[in-house]
Amino acid sequence: MKLFYKCLLFYLIVFLARAQNDTPTNIILLIGDGMGLTQITSGMYANGNKTILENFENIGLAKTHSFKNLITDSAASGTAIACGEKTYNGVLGINHKNKSIPSIINYCSSYGYKTALLSTSSIIHATPASFYSNVDSRNEYENIALQLLQSEVNYFIGGGKKYFTKRKDKKNILVDNNPYFMVDNLKDFSVSESDKVGYLTYEKEPPKKSQGRTPSLPKMLSTLLNRFNEQNVPFFVMAEGSQIDWGGHANNTSYVISEFDEFEETIQIAYNFAIKNKNTLVIITADHETGGMTLSGGDISKKMVKSKFNTRGHSATMVPVFAYGPFSEKFRGIYENTAIFHKMKTAVSE
Ligand code: MG
Ligand code: MG
Ligand code: ZN
Repeated sequence: MKLFYKCLLFYLIVFLARAQNDTPTNIILLIGDGMGLTQITSGMYANGNKTILENFENIGLAKTHSFKNLITDSAASGTAIACGEKTYNGVLGINHKNKSIPSIINYCSSYGYKTALLSTSSIIHATPASFYSNVDSRNEYENIALQLLQSEVNYFIGGGKKYFTKRKDKKNILVDNNPYFMVDNLKDFSVSESDKVGYLTYEKEPPKKSQGRTPSLPKMLSTLLNRFNEQNVPFFVMAEGSQIDWGGHANNTSYVISEFDEFEETIQIAYNFAIKNKNTLVIITADHETGGMTLSGGDISKKMVKSKFNTRGHSATMVPVFAYGPFSEKFRGIYENTAIFHKMKTAVSE
């Protein structure tokens, strides 16, 4: 009899463990473009010495160099994170041997995931484009736009409408053979029943947060997560705080901080979701640092920081990776940015 109960207990444990593993892991990947440690630190002190990132206990550092260059651009680093291979600066979704490579979006789709890309730049800009395009040059915007509409991405929100509608080939690719249901506000985005929905927020690049950019990234993410919650399917989403980088390029501290603020709210949305939905892995990282930013002074009580910049371009310093949820412990340590792709793959397949 005793043996019977032992066996029963054993099978119950195995059953529960299997049931646990059978729940696929959602992934929310948040990329702060150009968000090095100083950008985070500045945002933290400017926000009264606190950041939601303090809740993330699994932290690592990623090396950002590209295939040939110590200092990467967003195309090569985006490709490293999205596709797991180092490539040349300026190249999207093609490795150094000139071979087109699949991204985590393709991988997730093959596992029945729904996928989404959200951006506060245009959606055809290097970071989001590294998740769905394969081009020699990140500047091939109109070609990238075409590749987005042919991609496996389920939902996208970002700027750059003109690359779809006012093209050199005179085509309006949003009208002809477009598999996406296009909307022009978040409400329509949330109620559309299509499983391919696109929302192009601006003709060109969206403006700065401080100039009233809408919708905000946290609003985009919360709307999307509500959708996913109702669908009850595993999902992958990449949301990019694109303009932290532009603040760095402009050597403009307040630009960096206001963009980081919005990104921080986005992290909060993801974190809240992951607390309620335990099968959700949240990863926050950057593709590289921008500006060679240093925190040179300030006053915490006044929520004021001063910084200096060493370049108008990117720097080669490692960037932090923060993770929460299942598989988050795999993000500890120091590794190449390409490892982020492989770690995400593990979270999907195991
Ligand atoms: Mg970048
Ligand atoms: Mg970017
Ligand atoms: Zn940049």
